Amino acid sequence: MRMFKYLATAAMLAGLAIAAPAGAQEKGLVGVAMPTKSSARWIADGDNMVKVLKERGYKTDLQYAEDDIPNQLAQIENMITKGAKVLVIASIDGTTLSDVLKQAHDQGIKVIAYDRLIRDTPNVDYYATFDNFQVGVQQATSLVKGLKADTEKGPFNIELFGGSPDDNNAFFFYNGAMSVLQPLIDKRVLVVGSGQVGMDKVATLRWDPATAQARMDAILSSTYSGKKLNGVLSPYDGLSIGILSSVKGVGYGSGDMPMPIVTGQDAEVPSVKSIIAGEQYSTIFKDTRDLAKVTVDMVDAAMSGKEPTVNDTKTYDNGKKVVPSYLLKPVVVDKSNWKQVLVDGGYYKESQVK
Ligand code: BGC
Repeated sequence: MRMFKYLATAAMLAGLAIAAPAGAQEKGLVGVAMPTKSSARWIADGDNMVKVLKERGYKTDLQYAEDDIPNQLAQIENMITKGAKVLVIASIDGTTLSDVLKQAHDQGIKVIAYDRLIRDTPNVDYYATFDNFQVGVQQATSLVKGLKADTEKGPFNIELFGGSPDDNNAFFFYNGAMSVLQPLIDKRVLVVGSGQVGMDKVATLRWDPATAQARMDAILSSTYSGKKLNGVLSPYDGLSIGILSSVKGVGYGSGDMPMPIVTGQDAEVPSVKSIIAGEQYSTIFKDTRDLAKVTVDMVDAAMSGKEPTVNDTKTYDNGKKVVPSYLLKPVVVDKSNWKQVLVDGGYYKESQVK
């Protein structure tokens, strides 16, 4: 009798143990691998992804890898072990995931590249991102506008910064920007004072602000003792903050040394504050709420065996295949429209950025 009771209880517990996850797993587990918490944009991405996935009945496993590649690999392996049905991955180094994604593919797991393209593997199914070339075009157009290089003949002295060379996006941003800047460089309306042009010279490994600040320091002392720096193409707000602190260190922003026009990306709070204060000139806003929705639509479609909606099937060749993509539209934000775009649009409360 005691034995029977024990067995019945064990069976009940086992039943419960199966029932609970089974209930929660109705729509399955989705693994979300994010690169780092050191930039606020990725925290917003993770939060929005979990929110939308939960609203649609999924279980989630959200992980941040602090820009450490082996750490991200281990996190993705762990998601596979836990039974994830779909993996959503914003990679640190887009070329390092081939083995783990082969393993995922062999188990029938769908893989969505999130914001950053995953390269050199056939085992990535879809890509949700913003129009990355257009981001670069917008950054450069804003730089030109801030300098008035579209109406005045210059020459204006500028410097170029690129993103991380292991991030496919960095090349799209740079190429987009150069499509606008190169004709003006050719006409000598713009002059790259240091002569450092090309991603091999201007990239910033892991998008590290301190690396950008040190490079700006070095350029200021090697090139700008007798002339003024008028503008800087910066591809990301974190780098812009480092660049601004470097130029302020040698006196820009006071007296007869106006702050150079500095661009950015992500509309992170410190940069929006800096724009309002008249230091950083502009940033590019990429609404992570929209990216989360588009990505979860892809998850939904993939889980029900349907083809997700995509709007680009040509641009993103990852070296093994052209990955079907959905590209969202980025928006330039500067002193003239930050309130309308970011506050009225409900992304930030005014008290957060003022
Ligand atoms: C993202 C940018 C971001 C950068 C640094 C890129 O892949 O697309 O929005 O500024 O990474 O985190």
